[in-house]
Amino acid sequence: MKTLENKIALVTGGSRGIGAGIALRLAQGGADVAITYLRSAEAAETQAATFRELGVRALAVQADSGDPASIRAAIGRVTADLGRIDILVNNAGIAFYDDFQQLSIEQFDQISAVNMRGVFVASQAAVDAMPAGGRIIHIGSCQANRMPHAGGSLYAMSKSALIGLTKGMARDLGPRKITVNVVHPGPIDTDMNPASGTMAGGQIQLMALDHFGSAADIGALVAFLAGPESAYITGAEFTIDGGTNC
Ligand code: NDP
Repeated sequence: MKTLENKIALVTGGSRGIGAGIALRLAQGGADVAITYLRSAEAAETQAATFRELGVRALAVQADSGDPASIRAAIGRVTADLGRIDILVNNAGIAFYDDFQQLSIEQFDQISAVNMRGVFVASQAAVDAMPAGGRIIHIGSCQANRMPHAGGSLYAMSKSALIGLTKGMARDLGPRKITVNVVHPGPIDTDMNPASGTMAGGQIQLMALDHFGSAADIGALVAFLAGPESAYITGAEFTIDGGTNC
């Protein structure tokens, strides 16, 4: 059943990885889908062409999630071309791991700009174009709630900030019948965290299941949260991590 027909979605960072998997699943559900990307213009256009083959409208827009003006311009383009935004998925994110004493102010600012400020700016701009029944879904990380190794302080900080943002936004936007939730993936096989990478073995040891998840796994959960059956869910966290944090 196409539960997302007549909906318009924007997924930030949809050219590759989890964002591409989410955008595909929303398009398979019948939603028109816009994606943003930073550098991968060709991959983003290929994704958009794939979505169009499913019979939905699709748009790829270059936008740096670390730059408020760029995000606002992209959202203006999406609303001009597609009409409005019913579903916003704040997926674009960066990660780096470094010894705490080695971390610089520049690294702090960089991860804050993309993973936190970018989510705030995109949400604020999208809400202007979002009718009642709208859905905002932030992509956090299971490391927002548990950091099992050294080096991840800034990444964990940036993702745990989304928990507070989610709860506060849910309160503010509830009267408009817009829901806000955060999804916390665990190890998902992407360029950021390849299942064949040197860090993979240590991650698998932490899991209840014995393998990485896929972008499609995250897409399925996000599609549920974007759909009609999740209307009473807001201000909530959803961990999808193969049991990493259990
Ligand atoms: P990837 O690095 O594989 O893909 C990142 C995507 O985000 C790309 O589409 C990239 O665009 C885009 N992007 C990166 N920086 C920016 C920016 N400044 N502005 C706009 N777009 C940007 O990451 P994943 O798919 O693995 O991760 C997606 C999200 O999921 C992130 O928020 C990440 O923190 C989170 N996550 C991932 C996990 C994992 O194991 N993979 C686990 C937990 C959370 P381009 O192609 O143009 O570079």
